[in-house]
Amino acid sequence: MNVISKVRAVERLYKVLEKDIQELRTQTGINCVENCIKCCTTSHIMATALEFYPMAYHLYQTGEADNFLEKIAQINNSGICPALSYFNTENTRQGCTQYPYRGLICRLFTYNYSTDKYGVRKLAACKTIRLAQAEELEKANHLLKLKPIGPRATDFYSRLQVIDFNEAQRLYPIGDAIRIAIEAIITNQHYRGNRAM
Ligand code: SF4
Ligand code: SF4
Repeated sequence: MNVISKVRAVERLYKVLEKDIQELRTQTGINCVENCIKCCTTSHIMATALEFYPMAYHLYQTGEADNFLEKIAQINNSGICPALSYFNTENTRQGCTQYPYRGLICRLFTYNYSTDKYGVRKLAACKTIRLAQAEELEKANHLLKLKPIGPRATDFYSRLQVIDFNEAQRLYPIGDAIRIAIEAIITNQHYRGNRAM
């Protein structure tokens, strides 16, 4: 599969995932706390480059790829996500500057369930949700005992492996994952003789 086909395959995977997440939200009432960016600021986020191919391709198409690489170099800390804006002014909203193109790990924060050793399904809720939406969480876990709702993280990582088995195995600190994805897209487009619009 070539690089652009991988971009499209990851985008299709995200469409399925978003549908599952929407189902989970609707049935349980679980929703991220407004303006919360806690999960984006955790220092140990590990991700694959593959899951950021759609973001990298978008940055390339909009002519922002080189600036983004410079930003990553300036941050000089691969544990910090370069897509995160800490500022909240009239012009810039605090949070993910690449929200529609965020990675698999970003989409799955809180919105996935796992199964314990007794086969009981539980929502992998973050601490913020556990504290702020205790009632909704109880309802979610009750419903999950009865039937699967929403995404199971392991299923989506398996589907990522179907797109590119090797790339889906390689985990990097998030800054490196995004940088490697951008470099892969740039290299591919230069090789094909395409120029950023
Ligand atoms: S998943 Fe949790 S920590 Fe992350 S934005 Fe939502 S509420 Fe905040
Ligand atoms: S890509 Fe966006 S959602 Fe993911 S960690 Fe970075 S800022 Fe957060």
